[in-house]
Amino acid sequence: MTVQHTLSILKPDVTRRNLTGKINAKIEDAGLRIIAQKRLWLTRAQAEGFYAVHAERSFFGDLCEFMTTGPVVAQVLEGNDAIAKYREIMGATNPANAAEGTIRKEFAESIEANSVHGSDSAENAASEISYFFSRMEIVG
Ligand code: ADP
Ligand code: MG
Repeated sequence: MTVQHTLSILKPDVTRRNLTGKINAKIEDAGLRIIAQKRLWLTRAQAEGFYAVHAERSFFGDLCEFMTTGPVVAQVLEGNDAIAKYREIMGATNPANAAEGTIRKEFAESIEANSVHGSDSAENAASEISYFFSRMEIVG
C-alpha cells in the first residue's frame, strides 16, 4: 500500500443538481481524504488546457464546452492507492457500463456528463494537481 494523491473534479452536472455533498460522502466512505477543494467556473481555455491530452479525440470540443456550462469542484484526494481506488469507485466512463454502487452508475447523466474526473496514473495525477492547486492549498 502506498499513500497517493489524485486529482478529482466534480463536473458541472454535479453542481447543477446540488450533488456535491452526496459525492463527497461516497469519496470519504471509501476511505479517501479530501485534502484540498475549491469550486471554480472554468474558462474555455482552462478546460482545453486540462484536457489537452484528448485534443485529437472527436468528443474534445463538446467535452470542453460541457466543462464550462457551470461550476466544477476540484479536489485533491489522499489515501492508500488513491489513484486506482478513486477510479474504482468512479466506475466506467460510460455510465451504462459502470458497476453497481459506483458514482457514475448512481449519478452520471451520460458518457459526457459523467459526474467525475479522476487521474489515471501517478504522472498525470501530479501534473493535474499542479494545474489546479498550489502547494499551500493542499493540507494533508
Ligand atoms: P475517464 O474520465 O473515465 O478517464 P477519458 O479520459 O477517456 O475517460 O475521457 C475524458 C472525458 O471525456 C470523460 O470522462 C467524458 O466526460 C468524456 N468522454 C469520453 N469518451 C466520450 C465519448 N465517446 N463521447 C462523449 N464524451 C466522452
Ligand atoms: Mg481520463
